[in-house]
Amino acid sequence: MAANPTDARPAPGHQMASRWAAVLRTPLGAAAAALLALVLLLAILAPVLWTRRANAIDVGASLEGPSSAHWLGTNTLGQDVFYQVLVATRLSVQLALAATAIGVATGLILGAAPLVLGARAGRVVTAVVNLAVAFPPLLLALFFAVIFGVGEVGALLAMGFATAPTFARLTRTLVARIAGLDYIAAARLAGVGRIRLLTRHVLPNIGEPLIVNATTAAGTALLSFAGLSFLGLGVQPPDYDWGLLLANGLDAIYTRPAAAVAPAAAVVLAGSAFNLFGEALALSLGVPEVPAAAGARGRGRRRRNDVARTAGPERVRGDDPGRADQPDDREVLLVEDLWVSFPDGSTPVRGVSFALGRGESVGVVGESGSGKTLTALAVARLLEEPARVRARRLRLAGQDLLAAASRAQRHFLGTSAGMVFQDPMTAFNPVKRVGRQLAEVAAEHQGMRQRQAMARAVQRLREVRIPAPERRARQFPHELSGGMRQRAMIGMAVMGSPALIIADEPTTALDIIAQRQVLRLLKSIQAEGDAALLFISHDITVVGQVCDRVLVMYAGRIVENLPTAELLSHARHPYTQALLAAVPSMATDRTRPLAVVPGRPADPARLPAGCAFAPRCPLADTRCASLDPPLTADGEGRQVACWHADRVAADPVLAVNRDG
Ligand code: SF4
Repeated sequence: MAANPTDARPAPGHQMASRWAAVLRTPLGAAAAALLALVLLLAILAPVLWTRRANAIDVGASLEGPSSAHWLGTNTLGQDVFYQVLVATRLSVQLALAATAIGVATGLILGAAPLVLGARAGRVVTAVVNLAVAFPPLLLALFFAVIFGVGEVGALLAMGFATAPTFARLTRTLVARIAGLDYIAAARLAGVGRIRLLTRHVLPNIGEPLIVNATTAAGTALLSFAGLSFLGLGVQPPDYDWGLLLANGLDAIYTRPAAAVAPAAAVVLAGSAFNLFGEALALSLGVPEVPAAAGARGRGRRRRNDVARTAGPERVRGDDPGRADQPDDREVLLVEDLWVSFPDGSTPVRGVSFALGRGESVGVVGESGSGKTLTALAVARLLEEPARVRARRLRLAGQDLLAAASRAQRHFLGTSAGMVFQDPMTAFNPVKRVGRQLAEVAAEHQGMRQRQAMARAVQRLREVRIPAPERRARQFPHELSGGMRQRAMIGMAVMGSPALIIADEPTTALDIIAQRQVLRLLKSIQAEGDAALLFISHDITVVGQVCDRVLVMYAGRIVENLPTAELLSHARHPYTQALLAAVPSMATDRTRPLAVVPGRPADPARLPAGCAFAPRCPLADTRCASLDPPLTADGEGRQVACWHADRVAADPVLAVNRDG
């Protein structure tokens, strides 16, 4: 097999190194880096070379002006101001960097709180951070300086904590963006704990913007620290930094201006070096330098909140959990009366019920917003607050998923269900090698050691027909082609030999050839493992190729349930007919626009009183507009929710308004 043309692409580590090296090739980046290097060199060498000369007391030379012996004059003790400015570089830079480190670390903890602590506690932390961000950092620093007391340590803590809210907000925004991606959902489904989720999957992907912003913040901290020392709140004699030297020099600004100008110039130069370098990094790397607006959302395409805890499903009231509750041997998934709602009043999933046995495959089909993906996410317990999940029964492989979430349940879900996401690019952590990501699942759930887990990962990659699996396992996701990534994703989903595979639009991002390969693979993997397959798609033909049975969803409800083989002959719901009519065939007249389902999908927050499809249905009458039809079985293994299903059965064309 020919090597993948993407093989030549460098790994993320190398990519990052080359991007950072590219910063140095820009004029701004080169100038800022040179200036910064000079400042850091001085910080390292000046105290070693010139401390003795800077601290030498010569009362006979007190308060002298600039001369060849003392270029910037002397202070009251006759100490050389020029050498003091040079020596003060280390303490000034050291304190600024330490304050920034405290700010970044505290900001990281606060900003990641919603992910680690859950939505409720996270909201409290976020409110406090938002309040703190409203105050200028210098004002906060003065406030904290009063609390922590006068001196280096007090000022250091004050500056660190004053910077923290900015980093907390930045971290929260970055974490929210990452937390919406599929690989985080996959890791959560695999049972990865919150702390490991943060350290292994989130932090490595937000490091770059944090470093860029920290560089700029160090420049600001340097200026602010000088301000605190200047005000007498920072460094205390006999130590000195630029702020203190500036305060001393200012006493004789009219007679010996150089003693004040020099430390001020040093502060400005060093601060500019950090700021300019941060700016050059931001420009070159495309990283937002100013923290993004709170609450920004990432590419989490369907989760309704940013970072939140899993919305635990509740049992629908009035139900007897013991009634008819014995799963038969072949049952894998039982969903009864599943509801998903949001605080805005919308109910995108309404009373969905279905069951899946071993080796069975069920396709859930419908337009965007029909509730099919939310149904799958609710089953996998991947829905987060503020989503509210209720059901009469929700059972996977004999286990009640309505029981309170626990570590054991997460472990059970991680081994019993595997999820294949739509976009394999977002389904893998971009900075971790493919093999390690697969191995993590085995290590997490089968308690395998690293070597054993990696061997299992390679075996799975081989089973999903990835050529040279040992080599591919060592590669990063971007080094695999789209089809190969999706196959690796399937490999990851079946690492734990799950009883249920949930595939959410797994072929949408692929070309037609890769699509066919992936569908075939999914089917054969399912058949080999005798697993149940819940296949989500907007494409009724794809569902027809893969599944035994089709559930057609509209406005959060199942409106038709029938065997795939009977789709063309026995579909009786006008919506199903419209979906089928929208599929082009060999007989389709290419000169006419493709048929579409007329009208717009129903808004789950504003559903009509009767049948939700009525505004788009050519058969709608007054009964349809006032009464929602129940899902009714026909006694032959089919169900439909339509008052006029018999008319559609007699003449399907009636149900389709091709001209919309
Ligand atoms: S119940 Fe009425 S409006 Fe709804 S799909 Fe059937 S015919 Fe159309």
